[in-house]
Amino acid sequence: MNDFNDRGPRQNNRGPRRDMGPREMHKATCSDCGEECEVPFKPTEGKPVYCRECFGKRRTF
Ligand SMILES: [Zn+2]
Repeated sequence: MNDFNDRGPRQNNRGPRRDMGPREMHKATCSDCGEECEVPFKPTEGKPVYCRECFGKRRTF
């Protein structure tokens, strides 16, 4: 979401900037296809994690 601040009345974020790149990725194993994947959130133990493809297939849930 690089252009998230382009619109709206939000002020520029001042203070500490994140210099960790666009997004922090976490390694995980897809609960559907079993492939190793990276997700933009921290995988929670006990909760299924899906790779991009499987997540797209399951968004009806
Ligand atoms: Zn998958």
